[in-house]
Amino acid sequence: MTAPMLRVRDVETCYGTSQALFGMSFEVSQGEFVTLIGRNGMGKTTTVKSVMGLLAPRGGAIEFGGRSLMRLPAYRVAQLGIGLVPEGRQVFPNLSVRENLVATSNNRVGARDPWTLERVYALFPRLKERERNLGANLSGGEQQMLAIGRALMTNPRLLILDEATEGLAPLIRQEIWTCLAGLKKAGQTVVVIDKNIAALLRLADTHYLVEKGRVVWNGTSASLKAQPELLHQYVGV
Ligand code: ATP
Repeated sequence: MTAPMLRVRDVETCYGTSQALFGMSFEVSQGEFVTLIGRNGMGKTTTVKSVMGLLAPRGGAIEFGGRSLMRLPAYRVAQLGIGLVPEGRQVFPNLSVRENLVATSNNRVGARDPWTLERVYALFPRLKERERNLGANLSGGEQQMLAIGRALMTNPRLLILDEATEGLAPLIRQEIWTCLAGLKKAGQTVVVIDKNIAALLRLADTHYLVEKGRVVWNGTSASLKAQPELLHQYVGV
């Protein structure tokens, strides 16, 4: 058995005096497609921010590739090979599509077949058409594609997507799922937070159900499908 790529253990994170994570624990192995599923406000985004160094946990442990991420600033976490597609996309509004893609691109992790502008444009042809447009002038779907392309251009060993299909039209949403299926097939390690449970059940290997800042259940798609009462209880579907 190889060690997990990402190991989150008993993490506690607070906003001031308000505690949001109460012993959050999960693991992601190389090539695995993992989800964090739960109702709004249960701590999924706080978990992602704790991993990325955007929030400082007050307890627990976070290891990536055997190395502690605790107290590392976000830019160091990104350099170590975690790429984030953040909630709300957060593309650079005053940069063009092309500039957004190259602004943070790198191959520090030494990927053998690194992402290039051409590969991102092949994945999302719409971005090529909009290459010279400013981030601010893109549709929501185009911004989401740009946020994914920007993260891929850092050649992340682990790609994390926080609500990547939220608020998108069904066709664009489908395009994002098709993209993620392709990435999975290519061996990309992925953590996804999303409300489209049916798509997650089709795509993911392992699910973690999150309730009040901790994981209350984890297992495969097959075992989650076999227990619809879990989704009913923890997601309300
Ligand atoms: P959502 O899908 O709504 O983003 P989530 O599962 O990602 O939900 P979090 O955003 O991590 O949940 O929120 C976890 C808890 O932390 C909630 O109780 C939320 O109100 C609280 N919280 C989140 N951001 C802040 C903040 N900036 N300041 C104070 N409390 C916060």
